[in-house]
Amino acid sequence: MKTFKHSLILILLSLCCITGVQAQTKVIAHRGFWKTESSAQNSITALQKAAEADVYGSEFDVQLTSDGVVVVNHDDAIHGIVIGNTPYEKLKNITISNGEKLPTLEDYLKAGKKLDVQLILEIKPHKTKEIEDQAVETIVRMVKKYKLTRKVEYISFSLNICEQLAKLTPKSEIAYLNGDISPKELKSKGINGIDYHFNVLYKHPEWIEEAHNAKMKVNTWTVDNDKDMQRLIDMKVDYLTTDEPLKAKELTNK
Ligand code: MG
Repeated sequence: MKTFKHSLILILLSLCCITGVQAQTKVIAHRGFWKTESSAQNSITALQKAAEADVYGSEFDVQLTSDGVVVVNHDDAIHGIVIGNTPYEKLKNITISNGEKLPTLEDYLKAGKKLDVQLILEIKPHKTKEIEDQAVETIVRMVKKYKLTRKVEYISFSLNICEQLAKLTPKSEIAYLNGDISPKELKSKGINGIDYHFNVLYKHPEWIEEAHNAKMKVNTWTVDNDKDMQRLIDMKVDYLTTDEPLKAKELTNK
C-alpha cells in the first residue's frame, strides 16, 4: 500500500513538471517585517518578525563601508553620514529607529542562520565597478563561511553586481531588479531570476512565461495592495515582495 502511495505521489510530481504547473506564490517581507511592534526596516527584529510571520523570505539591503565592512542599510547614508566614505568604527554605534545598533551583514547572517526563513540579500549599487566587485567578493566569502549558500538569495539593481555573483556563486539564486532586460538575455549571462517592479510585469506579462520556460524565478516588488497582489498571483509570479506580508499570506494561502 505504501509503495502504491509513493508511486502515486511520484506520478503526480512528474505530471506537475511535465505540464509546467507552477508552485504557489510565496511571500517575501520587504526590508523584513517592519510594520509591527518594536521593529524597524532592515533591523534584526524585522528579520525575526518575518520568520515568526512564517513567510518564505526576508529581504534586506547592504552597503560597503570605506574600509570594507558590509552593513545593513537601505540608503547610502545614515544620519547624514555617507556609508561608502566612512570607516566602520565611526558607524558602529549608530542606532536605528527601534534602538538597535546598525547591523552588519555578519550580525544578520548569524541571526538568520537560526531562523526558518530565506535571506533575500540586496546588494546596493556602489560608486565604481571596483567597489562593487569588492562588495560581491566580501559578501559571497562571508555567506560561504557561515555555510548559508542555499539560504541566501541575491538581488541587485546593478547588472555588474549580478554578473559578478553569477561568476563567484553560480549555483545561487540571483535576480536582477532594474526591469530593463528580458529574462532570456539575463539567463545568457548566468543570472537566473527577475525581480521587477509590478508595473514592468504589467507592461511585459510575456516575461513571466519566458522566465519560467528558461527555469528562472519571477519576483516582483513592492506589492502592498490587495488588487495588485491578486493580479500578480493570477499571473503566476513565484514571489511577492511586500511591506504587508500578513495580507499577502492571506491571499497566497487560499
Ligand atoms: Mg531592497
